[in-house]
Amino acid sequence: MLRATTLSGFVELQERAISDLRKRLSGPLVVCGDAGYDEARTIWNRMIDRRPALIARCAGTDDVVTALRFAREHGLLISVRGGGHNVTGNAVCDGGLMIDLSPMKSAHVDPRRRRMTAEPGLTWKDFDTATLRHGLATTGGIVSSTGVAGLTLGGGHGWLMRKHGLACDNVSAVDVVVADGRCLRASADENPELFWGVRGGGGNFGIVTSFEFQLHPLTTVLAGFLLFPRSQARDVVDLFREQAPRAPDDLTLGVLFTTWHDGRPVMAVVLCHSGAIEDGERLVQPFRELGTPIIDAVRPMAYAELQTMFDATNPPGAWYYKTGYLDGAAMEGDRFVETLLQHCDFPSPSPLSRVYIEHLGGAMGRVAPDATAFVHRKAPFDLIVIAGGFEASATEANIGWARDTSAAMRPFMSGAAYVNYLGADAGADAVKAAYGPAYDRLVKLKDTYDPENVFRLNQNIRPEPLIL
Ligand SMILES: Cc1cc2nc3c(=O)[nH]c(=O)nc-3n(C[C@H](O)[C@H](O)[C@H](O)COP(=O)(O)OP(=O)(O)OC[C@H]3O[C@@H](n4cnc5c(N)ncnc54)[C@H](O)[C@@H]3O)c2cc1C
Repeated sequence: MLRATTLSGFVELQERAISDLRKRLSGPLVVCGDAGYDEARTIWNRMIDRRPALIARCAGTDDVVTALRFAREHGLLISVRGGGHNVTGNAVCDGGLMIDLSPMKSAHVDPRRRRMTAEPGLTWKDFDTATLRHGLATTGGIVSSTGVAGLTLGGGHGWLMRKHGLACDNVSAVDVVVADGRCLRASADENPELFWGVRGGGGNFGIVTSFEFQLHPLTTVLAGFLLFPRSQARDVVDLFREQAPRAPDDLTLGVLFTTWHDGRPVMAVVLCHSGAIEDGERLVQPFRELGTPIIDAVRPMAYAELQTMFDATNPPGAWYYKTGYLDGAAMEGDRFVETLLQHCDFPSPSPLSRVYIEHLGGAMGRVAPDATAFVHRKAPFDLIVIAGGFEASATEANIGWARDTSAAMRPFMSGAAYVNYLGADAGADAVKAAYGPAYDRLVKLKDTYDPENVFRLNQNIRPEPLIL
């Protein structure tokens, strides 16, 4: 017998039930003690150490349906794992059934129609490899090991968002296994309300087993970073605040406060220009003229190279995020820069810890706020305080630094956040603010497709009436 966590307590699972499930699945069912159990429950954020009773490593949609039906039959708590990158660790449950989609990696590109059909186990590295072979790409995560599924379902920021919209804006259809085990197609024509909800509402409504993406021609970009000493931070932030709002859609900027590998406190302007290289060079020039950057690593490069450029500084390890959208008006004065600099007093507790300001707007900002469940279309910038890569003994210092920095920046924030960046300690109010004006409509959708809140290990939209 195996003791497992249910939605309301515990259940003893009979050996026979487990072996029946094992027989019905095409992919492996992994139980504590099996070879590969620890590997399967380990995700990118190594602070998460949860032990599912069962892990269904799904080989396809039939496995997803089988695993979900088994969980429903026994009332089990479930978690859904795509790329396993979400910092909250929601991909892994303690004691329940983890539905692991990471083996589902099929990718089919139709270059003529510029479409990609993607299974939910793909990472952005897998995705870009498949599409760039045809000179095509779409907006995707900037660290290549991030999962396509979780990122897209929450919205999906990336270097191309100001030109082509969010990752979810480029989805034309999905296949979803909903809580009662039905497989539904959702698109503008079929189950349109579900289609609205899965583009920004995360994994609240079902398990997406296939995405259809729209692709765009792309091979080379002008991209990279300019590294400046911290002493130049004020000028760099001033120029960033001046240039970002007037940047063309081809240009996405970012400002990063971090520690260089020799321990120097530095800052960087990071960027991608996906239009004509000469136009990009002209737009970068004012940053180059700011002084003498320590490193000027902006150059024409394959988009594939850019998409792996930040992998090395985002390895698996201990990570903690605090985040929120910046309020454009509040960040105009000197106090914004002063507060930022005071708290970016690197070296921070860990050398991988950093503060990042992300440049939003452009095409993603022109999508109507009610067209998808991702509503924060007008937010100009996003701020992420990232504590990362620290030893267990330094957890308190790193998390404390991230919390203090984020609290100090609160006067400059709008109060809402991008749902995919919310950390594990985001409370119900923060989650509600992340869904913003879409929340009530999302609750109705949850009532329709998941009234018992089977899909609850996520930034949860609670059905009415509340079921605990
Ligand atoms: C290093 C790093 C870089 C990042 N960079 C970016 C970035 O550039 N842009 C950006 O927008 N975000 C970025 N993020 C945030 C990222 O979007 C989220 O962490 C996202 O949840 C990751 O998706 P995943 O599939 O890897 O995660 P997982 O942890 O596997 O999944 C997260 C949640 O998504 C849901 N889910 C996953 N797959 C499915 C599915 N098929 N069906 C239904 N629900 C599902 C589940 O609720 C699950 O708990 C980054 C995160 C990290 C750690």
